[in-house]
Amino acid sequence: MILTVTMNPSIDMAYALDHLKIDDVNRVSDVRKTAGGKGLNVTRVIHLMSQPVKATGVLGGNFGKFIEDQLDNDSIQHSFTHINQETRNSIAILHDGGKQTELLEAGPTLSGADAQAFQDHFDALLDETNLVTMSGSLPGGLAPSFYSELVAHAAQKGIKVLLDTSGASLAAAVKSEHKPFLIKPNDEELGNLLGEKVDRTDLPKLQQQLQDPRFDGIDWVVVSLGSKGAFAKHGNKFYQAAIPKINAVNPVGSGDSTIAGLAMALAQDKDDATVLKTAMTCGLLNTLEATTGFVNPDHFDEYFNQVTVIEK
Ligand code: ATP
Repeated sequence: MILTVTMNPSIDMAYALDHLKIDDVNRVSDVRKTAGGKGLNVTRVIHLMSQPVKATGVLGGNFGKFIEDQLDNDSIQHSFTHINQETRNSIAILHDGGKQTELLEAGPTLSGADAQAFQDHFDALLDETNLVTMSGSLPGGLAPSFYSELVAHAAQKGIKVLLDTSGASLAAAVKSEHKPFLIKPNDEELGNLLGEKVDRTDLPKLQQQLQDPRFDGIDWVVVSLGSKGAFAKHGNKFYQAAIPKINAVNPVGSGDSTIAGLAMALAQDKDDATVLKTAMTCGLLNTLEATTGFVNPDHFDEYFNQVTVIEK
């Protein structure tokens, strides 16, 4: 069983409008509401690929209940702890021929007791887990080191953690004594972490940047590069993964879908090339769908066979 952690889930609301009028009334007839947050996208993709997965994290209020109902409707297993505050909404307004304006709530602020209750619950769930993914930003009230504490608990039971976060929580995880098994920054997140520009077209430089001692002790660093695929470090080995040219419909959530692919392949102890090909194929399949964090498994083999992985 793969366990996915989403500490700050949201109801993702997509409002489609021909034209967004500012300082005026906009009436919306095309509304979509889905269980969101990066970790829930990871969960949905693993489930769509027919692999066993359970979602955990923190939910609250009626919006939290809505998310649990949605997961039930999709027959996705879940086990969240509950807080005395409402889970957040994230609003994406799709307008004016391809524009996307987002309104993202910060979400609840957790108390020390909320954090402890989740950690205890997480520890119990580890007994039925062989790999963990942790995705997204942390809610208010949790220190940037919170993910590292969870990593330490998983490590005690010999369970690998794939971490997809950014900013202070990524920096804290990289610095921590308890390293995640894998991180998946995109080029911008890697640049922010290193404090220098990352150029997705300069792979020799990227290879050099991944030899930074800050990555020592992290088994896999997978830098996703959008339509350019990915560049990865596994131990002392470096790989370039290239993907075929496609017409992307909606690339949002491709990183989450990539994490789903990495988790599925690593949970099955696949070889390096298969791990990267599975990840790239899942990311690419997500871009072909209008729904964020969604893949059609029927097209998996077709694209998997077109992804190339070269050791550098
Ligand atoms: P997000 O934050 O939207 O989830 P990300 O920035 O973390 O995404 P990306 O590097 O954009 O992640 O994309 C992850 C993977 O998805 C890529 O490595 C690639 O396999 C696939 N992908 C993304 N964009 C495209 C695209 N335009 N065409 C084909 N594949 C894509």
